[in-house]
Amino acid sequence: MNLIFIGPQGSGKGTQAKIISEKLNLCHISTGDLLRNVKGNLKEEVDSYINVGKLVPDELILKILIKELKKCKKGFILDGFPRNVTQAQKLKDLIDINKVIEINITDKQAIKRITSRISCKNCGAVFNKITNPPKIEGVCDSCKGKLYVRDDDKEEFVKKRLKIYHNETEPILGIYDSVRIDGFQEIDKVAQEILEKL
Ligand code: AMP
Repeated sequence: MNLIFIGPQGSGKGTQAKIISEKLNLCHISTGDLLRNVKGNLKEEVDSYINVGKLVPDELILKILIKELKKCKKGFILDGFPRNVTQAQKLKDLIDINKVIEINITDKQAIKRITSRISCKNCGAVFNKITNPPKIEGVCDSCKGKLYVRDDDKEEFVKKRLKIYHNETEPILGIYDSVRIDGFQEIDKVAQEILEKL
């Protein structure tokens, strides 16, 4: 099964992609995590986009994604890709997608969630200082990595990223067969609804 999870920043799509991929034994491919982990001479270029909330160029992310898809011998969940219609069309030429899950929240909810978000530097796991705190402050529950606030999670960049989401990413929903889930519910409830829809 090949799935795409789409949603505004803070909708919980990364958290849900992790839960559902583990349940269904699928690869979880987060393009944001892949980009944050780029090493070597590409790192400076990639950081110049992601640190200010801009999308990296399509050719660059496609190259990284194709490499990752080759490593995945089972089905997958794409988390953070495609981000615009060009990427969606390129993906359509490469591989079939069974379903798109749209996890929806309002911009107001998104800003509230993201500005209290903390992420693991090591494994990319995401926590929320208010609604989903780690068991030990500053330490990842899953891998014991260090938790930090991403540069692009500051309010001014969150607003910019939401604008990109509405203008560039949302139109993808017209290309695929998608189902909408209310992302402003308990994590377990959202996961349960996704599984029901699948
Ligand atoms: P995310 O963790 O999904 O919020 O992604 C963080 C940042 O990585 C985004 O704001 C973009 O700068 C970059 N990024 C992630 N996925 C893509 C993509 N498919 N195309 C272009 N840029 C991306």
